[in-house]
Order: sequence, then structure tokens, then C-alpha cells
Amino acid sequence: MTDSEKFEHLKELTLDDVVMPSEGWVAYAVCAGDEKSCGWQGWILEAISRDGKQLPADTRQICPVCDEATFRTWAKLQFRPSPDQPKIEDFESAD
Ligand SMILES: [Zn+2]
Repeated sequence: MTDSEKFEHLKELTLDDVVMPSEGWVAYAVCAGDEKSCGWQGWILEAISRDGKQLPADTRQICPVCDEATFRTWAKLQFRPSPDQPKIEDFESAD
């Protein structure tokens, strides 16, 4: 079994299979740390938790354009799952 086959089943996880967060935080980040910075700005994941306990999440502060470190601003928002959470198919990506 190859490594890609070993983890193939993980691609099929649904909301029923994972620990549902009770809240999440996003931060507005900027790529403005040094002279190599590119000026990118946008929202990044700050933290995801369930009842105050942190859940695994990708919170790296890496610019998606130039791979330099980003700086989290004071613009931060808390999100909570909606009781009538729409399906991801209804989500329109910004890509
Ligand atoms: Zn950048």
C-alpha cells in the first residue's frame, strides 16, 4: 500500500466524521514584514476550538503569493457555526 492509498479514505470525511468546532477566529493579515514583502492582504485562520479547547487547524502565517511571513492585524472576527449551516455546494469560491 502506498502512502497515497493509506490515507485515501480521509478524503471522504464529512461533518459527521469530525469534531465540530463551536467557534473559530479569523484575522486580517498583511504581507508587510520586510523589504521582500509583496503587500498581499486577506483573511487567515487564527484559531478553531470546541468549547474552549483548540482543534487542529492550519494557522500558518505564510503569504499565499510570495511565501514570506504575514503579520496579523488587530482586525479579527469570531465565527460560530450556523444552526442552518448551508452545504458547501452552495458556497461560491473566490478563486
Ligand atoms: Zn507576500
